[in-house]
Amino acid sequence: MRAARLHAYTEEMSEALSIDDVPRPTADGPDDVVVEVQGAGWCQTDNHVVEGMWTDYVPQELPLTLGHENAGRVVAVGENVETVAEGQPVICHPVRTCGVCRPCRQGEDMYCENVAFPGLTHDGGFADSLLTNERAVIPLPDGVDPTDIAPHADAGITAYHAVKKATAELNPGDTAVVIGVGGLGHIGIQCLDAMSAADIVALDLKPSARDLAANLGARHTFDPATDDVPAEIEALTDGTGAAQVLDFVGADETTALGPDIAAPGADHHVVGYGGHVHQPSQTLVDGEFGYRGTLVGHYTELQELVALVDRGDVDLHTTRYDLAEINTVAEKLEHGEIDGRAVITP
Ligand SMILES: [Zn+2]
Ligand SMILES: [Zn+2]
Repeated sequence: MRAARLHAYTEEMSEALSIDDVPRPTADGPDDVVVEVQGAGWCQTDNHVVEGMWTDYVPQELPLTLGHENAGRVVAVGENVETVAEGQPVICHPVRTCGVCRPCRQGEDMYCENVAFPGLTHDGGFADSLLTNERAVIPLPDGVDPTDIAPHADAGITAYHAVKKATAELNPGDTAVVIGVGGLGHIGIQCLDAMSAADIVALDLKPSARDLAANLGARHTFDPATDDVPAEIEALTDGTGAAQVLDFVGADETTALGPDIAAPGADHHVVGYGGHVHQPSQTLVDGEFGYRGTLVGHYTELQELVALVDRGDVDLHTTRYDLAEINTVAEKLEHGEIDGRAVITP
């Protein structure tokens, strides 16, 4: 089968992956599930993997098939698999978990002590077929298209996970600030709109992204390059500040903004990454301000997100690309030329 594989870390996205012919995976293990990939979202994390940014965080052996936002149709199952059968459309939670370690029993899929992460530690979904397991697959309701929903497997669940933490702290009348209305941010705004009665303020440098934010439920949008964002937030909140900040960019400039716009007790959820957090410790003490990281989300949260998609509450803006165009997609995302989400259709 065809698979888009990383052979060497590089900054040059035009030659990031090569299309290889590799053996098709088989469901040899009792819990194995093989999925024919119908959609695999390209993610900023894929650019980071290509650049070698993940080597300090996870074990990685090259060549590696990338692709961790996968959905498709089950084509083979191991002997113990009972919840899905051949032909079932599914979305794949991005990690294969063991189910028996303590974090798994607590529902903390991402902390599993025996985790495998297709696309980061094992072969992923930029290929005709993907090997995953029964604990990772979520059957899709009728009418939900696997290709359209694929990016929710990581982009969606990650945005949802951050929003769920934020909405637990948001009351009607509060203000939530969303920084970055790209692939994740535009999902985050819709989840916030569906799950809270907070006023949503969206920040983005691009006019098209601010328009999208307004259409999806943001009450106010600002351009951080030209608007005085702290003054605007202060005016909108009568001097209180934002109760929750969701940072889908994670650059030095955006993490620095949090303390200037946050209300006492606020959290700054760091979802995007690549920059640094530079703050005096007193910033976190005054007003009990907190930075909180976001790593994907729970299996059950992906089920909840599928329910929101099925209700029509979360709409994903996607563009489809052939597997052969994958390096073009990598380049386009690197240059910020993709609105919404690119989906590879092997
Ligand atoms: Zn991703
Ligand atoms: Zn586990």
